[in-house]
Amino acid sequence: MSLPRVDRRTLLLAAGGAAGLAGQGGAWRWIEQPDPQIYRPGMADGHWLREQGAALTQQLPDETLDTGVAILGSGVAGLSCAWQLARAGFRDVVLVQGPERDGNCAAGQFGALAYPRGAHYLPLPSMESRHVRDMLHDTGVLEGDPYADAPVFDEMALVHAPEERLLKDGRWHDELLPMQGIDPALAAEHQRFHLVIHDLSQAVGRDGKKAFAIPRLLSSSDPAFVALDALTMRDWLVQNRFESPWLRWYCDYACRDDYGIGSDQASAWAGLHYFASRGGRAANADPGAVLTWPNGLGALSQKLRDRIKQHLTPLPLRELSGMAIHVQENEFGTESLIVDRASGRVVRLRARQVVLAMPLMVAARILAGAQSEFGLSAPALPTYAPWLVGNVLLEGFPREREGSPLAWDNVIYGSPALGYVVSTHQQWGLANPRQTVFTTYRSLHDMSSAEARRWLLEASPDALWQSASEDLRVAYPRGLWRHVCKVEITVRGHAMSSPRPGLLMDRTLQQARQGGRRVHFAHADLSGLSVFEEASYWGCEVAKRLLGC
Ligand SMILES: Cc1cc2nc3c(=O)[nH]c(=O)nc-3n(C[C@H](O)[C@H](O)[C@H](O)COP(=O)(O)OP(=O)(O)OC[C@H]3O[C@@H](n4cnc5c(N)ncnc54)[C@H](O)[C@@H]3O)c2cc1C
Repeated sequence: MSLPRVDRRTLLLAAGGAAGLAGQGGAWRWIEQPDPQIYRPGMADGHWLREQGAALTQQLPDETLDTGVAILGSGVAGLSCAWQLARAGFRDVVLVQGPERDGNCAAGQFGALAYPRGAHYLPLPSMESRHVRDMLHDTGVLEGDPYADAPVFDEMALVHAPEERLLKDGRWHDELLPMQGIDPALAAEHQRFHLVIHDLSQAVGRDGKKAFAIPRLLSSSDPAFVALDALTMRDWLVQNRFESPWLRWYCDYACRDDYGIGSDQASAWAGLHYFASRGGRAANADPGAVLTWPNGLGALSQKLRDRIKQHLTPLPLRELSGMAIHVQENEFGTESLIVDRASGRVVRLRARQVVLAMPLMVAARILAGAQSEFGLSAPALPTYAPWLVGNVLLEGFPREREGSPLAWDNVIYGSPALGYVVSTHQQWGLANPRQTVFTTYRSLHDMSSAEARRWLLEASPDALWQSASEDLRVAYPRGLWRHVCKVEITVRGHAMSSPRPGLLMDRTLQQARQGGRRVHFAHADLSGLSVFEEASYWGCEVAKRLLGC
C-alpha cells in the first residue's frame, strides 16, 4: 500500500480504530480527507455590498476616470461587448472586472494543468448564432467562411473521441440514451423520442421562424410553440407518452446540466431548446460535436481578450479591478463608483454610456432607478440555481471499470450529480499524461435555492467534498484516492438563472432587454437560458446598439 502523497490529510483507520485493527487481523482501509481548497467567487464581495456598500457611496473617490463606454462585468457578455466595440474600431472603453474576472467562464490552474471553474463546452454554432461564428472566426477557432453550412473548426478544440459514456448497472456504456442492446420496447421509445426531436428541430412557426433557435430571441413566437412554456419538461414527456425510465432520466439530466434545475421544474420550451435548437455542423466533425479546451470556456475568454487587445493596438485595453457599488444616470451621462476591496481604492467612472454586464440581481441593487425605470425589484428577479464544481488533480489515472473507456464527459445514471470531464482529454498522444484533472459538476437542484445556499455557507470542506465527489466515488469505488493530489471546490451560490415555466411572459426580462437611453444590460439572465451563446449575444447586441448599427 503506498503512502498518501502531497497536501492531503489521510487518516488510516479500520473498523474499531487502528488500535483495534491489529487484534482483529482485518484489512487496513484508507479513509480519505483530501483537504479541499474552497473557492467562493463573489461571495464575500456580494455580502459586503449588501451589508456595507451603501455607506461607501458617500466616500470621496481616489480618482476620476472618463470614458465613452463603461462595461461593468467581465464575463462572456462583458467581454463580447468589448470585443464587438474593439472590432468596430471603438477604443474609448473601460472594462470593470467585477468580483470574478471572466465570471462563469473562469478557469484555474494546478501547476501546468488548467481546468474549468464553470463553463466547459460550446456546441457547434447554429446558423442563427452568427455572433458566435464571427467570434470563433476572429479568434481563429473557425476557418474560412464563418457563415458556411459546415465550416472547418480547429481540430484541437473539436472534442476528441470518445466524447461521452454512461455508467449504468456497474458497466460503462458509450451512449447516454442507447438504441441497441436494450429491451425492444424501450429502444422503440428512444427512437420515437429522437424522431420527435428531429421534427421539432426542423419545425418552423407561422411567423416563418425556427421553432427552437439559439439565440432564443430568434425562436418562433407561434402560439403552438410558445404554449410549451406553460408546461414543465416532465409534463411534456408525460403528455407525449414517453415512459421509459432511461429517457425520463436522460431528459432530467439534460435540464440539470444546462439549466441547473430538474425536468420537473424546467420549462418544456427551454428543455426542448436543449435538444432542438442547435444543429450546428462542421466540415471536419460529426454532427453534435462540441468545442472544448482543457480550461473549458476560459480558453475562449482568453482568446477574446487577446483579440480585443489586438484590435485596440496601439492602445491597451483599459481594465479596472474591483466592482461597481453604485451606478446612476446624470445630465452628462452616467457615473459609476468602483471599489477595489483588495486595495481599498475607489474610482469614479464617468461614461457617456454604461453597460451592466452583471447578473440582474446585482444590477437591481446598485443601479439608481433600477425598480422605477427598469422594473428590477426583488420579487420580479430571476431565481438563481446554486452549483458546485470540483477540480481534482490526479497523479496517474485510476483503474477503470468494465465497458467503454474513459471519455471526455463521464456520466452516472441515476446520480443527483452531473458526472465529470477530463481536462487532458484533448491532448494528442498514445499514452496517458502523467497527471490529469477531473472536473465534477453538480447543481443543487434537490433543495430549494435558499436551502441550498444556506447549506453551501454552513457545510464543512469535507461535506462539500463529499457532495462534489459523489460521482467519482461511484465510478471508482476503490483506488481513486491513491491518485488524488489536490482538490479545489468552486462554490457558486447564484450560479445561473433557471428557465421555469412562464419565462416567455417575463416582463422584467423584456424591459431589461430594451435598456435605457444611457443604461444597458448585457447578461445571460436576459435570455433566462444560461449558456455561452446567449450571454455573448447580449454583449454583441448592446455593442451594436451603442455603435448605432
Ligand atoms: C458550473 C457552470 C457550468 C456551465 N457550463 C456551461 C457550458 O459548458 N457551456 C455553456 O455554454 N454555458 C455553461 N454555463 C453557463 C455560462 O457559463 C454562462 O451562461 C455565461 O458564462 C454567463 O456569462 P455572463 O457574462 O452573462 O455572466 P457571468 O459569467 O455571471 O459574469 C458576470 C460578470 O459580472 C461581474 N460582476 C458582478 N457584480 C459586479 C459588480 N457589482 N460590478 C462589476 N462587475 C460585476 C462578475 O465579476 C462577472 O465578471 C455554465 C455555468 C455554470 C455556473
